[in-house]
Amino acid sequence: MTDVAVLGAGMVGICAAVHLQQRGRNVVLVDRRGAAEETSYGNAGLIQREGVYPYGFPHDFGALARYGLNRTIDAYYHPSALPRLAPFLWEYWKHSRPARHAEVARRYATLIEHCVSEHDALAAAAGAQGFLRRTGWLKAFRTERERDRRFAEAERWQREFGIRFRALDAAMLRELEPHLAPVLSGAVHWTDPVGVDDPQGLALAYLKLFERLGGEFVQGNAATLEAHGAGWRLRTAHGRIEAGAAVIALGPWADVLTRALGYDLPLAVKRGYHMHYRPAGEAKLNHPLLDTERGYFLAPMRRGIRLTTGAEFALRDAMKTPVQLARAEPIARNLFPLAERLDTDPWMGSRPCTPDMLPVIGRAPRHPQLWFDFGHAHHGFTLGPASGRLLAELVTGEAPFVDPSPFAPERLERTA
Ligand SMILES: Cc1cc2nc3c(=O)[nH]c(=O)nc-3n(C[C@H](O)[C@H](O)[C@H](O)COP(=O)(O)OP(=O)(O)OC[C@H]3O[C@@H](n4cnc5c(N)ncnc54)[C@H](O)[C@@H]3O)c2cc1C
Repeated sequence: MTDVAVLGAGMVGICAAVHLQQRGRNVVLVDRRGAAEETSYGNAGLIQREGVYPYGFPHDFGALARYGLNRTIDAYYHPSALPRLAPFLWEYWKHSRPARHAEVARRYATLIEHCVSEHDALAAAAGAQGFLRRTGWLKAFRTERERDRRFAEAERWQREFGIRFRALDAAMLRELEPHLAPVLSGAVHWTDPVGVDDPQGLALAYLKLFERLGGEFVQGNAATLEAHGAGWRLRTAHGRIEAGAAVIALGPWADVLTRALGYDLPLAVKRGYHMHYRPAGEAKLNHPLLDTERGYFLAPMRRGIRLTTGAEFALRDAMKTPVQLARAEPIARNLFPLAERLDTDPWMGSRPCTPDMLPVIGRAPRHPQLWFDFGHAHHGFTLGPASGRLLAELVTGEAPFVDPSPFAPERLERTA
């Protein structure tokens, strides 16, 4: 009999498993695929120390009108999905009102502030520091108006949350990134965040650490989980396993299991795409970079330049529609010399989202031996180690290193 079965081997589940195993629990980590082959594989690889304000739903009329036309790069929606998504979007919109969003940020910041130090601790234990690039990242602007607005915002975040940045004008930016076309007015250089040049590689290094600590990774279907005595059992490729406690860390698929266990949580996904390109000639991108007004991201990875897209509001299992990638690619080519595509097909992943933009970390309301660790949206790669530590401390009854109450599952449950 195992102490804990962690279901889902993305960045979030792997980190929860490591932290539990480090605390002397006997852990089996279960995934239906290999580890970190889904959302944790294809993200932009940023450990976003600056990400205290989770991405809100726009509230100004101009932005809403632009998004409504469905022609932007940073957001796209499937009109046919809107009726199903409407209840989620309505709640998301309400939590994004400026005063409420500021309150969400104050709560979120308590976890985000540990994201780099907690990655550092796991990376050191795993011998994986080689994946971490301490360059920070660049939020670059086309217009001076947007640049100056964002400089003011960065100053506010510095005052409120201690987040460091450098304000770069066009010349300073050209010095850092000489291969960019001279069309940018400057950038906010977030200096504390860390870029990872192979996100799956880092997750697999954490998995190796887990296994070195005595943990076991097995293939299995989390949907076979059922109550068994005071604990749980499920079917895996290694036969049936029994566990005293179970952790649901299924990212965008969490609701498949939570619903089956009687929890009605208002979860949704924001899908996103990536494509790799060979940099043309000797061109080099020294920092991950957001082309802010255009709304796409370029991240230098071991495999090439990874272009990632913003939010696609669609049903999780609907067909791929890489419209945003098609719109972004020609603009990116004009900004940075990209040669041929390196992937045959665009990759797609789904950010697991909650309407109040906070992850769900804590004990399931009606099952004492069931734990939730999902809903990390745009920041699951950032928050894997910090969430894993918090979850493990709650499971083992240690004093939690941050106040867990903002992340408690109870806040989201819809009562019939
Ligand atoms: C384009 C894009 C860019 C992003 N950029 C960043 C970034 O720069 N920084 C950042 O912090 N975050 C970023 N994110 C978000 C981040 O990738 C996610 O928040 C994070 O990967 C979620 O991790 P997870 O472990 O919860 O989910 P996942 O990585 O999706 O893991 C869930 C696991 O559950 C498994 N699973 C599902 N169903 C079952 C089942 N029935 N049985 C067994 N196993 C099952 C899956 O196989 C999968 O391995 C980005 C996302 C996208 C789409």
